[in-house]
Amino acid sequence: MLYAKGCLSKGESAMWGFTAAFSAYLLFLTALLGLAAGSFINCAAWRLVHHEPFFRGGRSHCVACGHALSPLDLIPLLSWICLRGRCRYCGKPVSARYPLAEAATAVLFLSAALCFGPTLETVQLMLLAVLLMGVCLTDLESCVIYDRFLLLIAALWAAFLPFSPSVQETLVSGIAGAFSVSLPLLLLTLFGEHVLHREMMGGGDIKLFCVLGLFLGWKLSLMTLIFACFTGILFGLVFRNKTFGGGEEPAGAFPFGPAVCLAAWVVLLFGRPLLDWYFSLF
Ligand SMILES: [Zn+2]
Repeated sequence: MLYAKGCLSKGESAMWGFTAAFSAYLLFLTALLGLAAGSFINCAAWRLVHHEPFFRGGRSHCVACGHALSPLDLIPLLSWICLRGRCRYCGKPVSARYPLAEAATAVLFLSAALCFGPTLETVQLMLLAVLLMGVCLTDLESCVIYDRFLLLIAALWAAFLPFSPSVQETLVSGIAGAFSVSLPLLLLTLFGEHVLHREMMGGGDIKLFCVLGLFLGWKLSLMTLIFACFTGILFGLVFRNKTFGGGEEPAGAFPFGPAVCLAAWVVLLFGRPLLDWYFSLF
C-alpha cells in the first residue's frame, strides 16, 4: 500500500534531512502552491455549478457586476484582504468562500507535506486535496457531488498505482476499500428507498466513499465512515440554520460530502498510526 509508511514515525526528522531554513522555504512554497491551487479549484467549482465552460468561459469576472478581473484582483488571499472583501469595480461584497477555499487548500497542502515529506505520496495527496476541495465546494453550493471529480479521484489513484511498492497489494487493498463501505451503504439506501420509502443517503456520497476507498483500503474506509458520521453531525449542528441546495437538488438537502472529505483526509494522514496504536491495545 502506498501509505504504508504512515505519518512521521519516531526519530524521523520533520525537516527531511534539509536545513531548517531550506525546509521552511519549501513549506512556504508549498503554502503558496496550495493558495494558487485553491484559487483555481474554487473558480472551476463555481463554473461547474453555474454551467459556465471552464476553458472557454472567458476571464474571471465579478459575479455581481460582470467586470473582468485584472491579475491584481486575482492574487489568492491578498486581493480579498486588501480590497476588504469587496469588488474593486462595483463595491459589492465578494464571498468569503474565495479566501476560505484558498486558505483551506494551503492548509491541506501543508499538512500533507509535513506528514509525508518530499515524497510521491505528498504529490498524490496534494492533487487529491484539490479534487476534494472541488467536491466540497460544489456540494456546499449545490448539494451535488459531480461525477467528473469522482472520476478524476479514481484516475489519480490509478495513475500512481505503478509507483506503489507492491502494485498487487495496493490494487487488492484499493478494490476492497472501494466496496467495503460503499456497497453496504448502497444496499442500505436501496432498502430505505424501496422498503421504508425514506431517502437515506445521496448517490454522490456513496460514490465518494467508493473512490476514496481506493486510497484508504477497507480498514481505513471503515474508520472514515465513523469519523464522517461524527463530522456530519457536527456540521449539521453548526449549520442548522443554513439552507443548502435549492438548485438542481431540493432545498433542505444537506451536503454530506465535506464531512466525508474531511474525515478521509484526517484518516489518510493519521489513520494508519491510529490503527496500529488501537490494535496494540489488545
Ligand atoms: Zn463587481
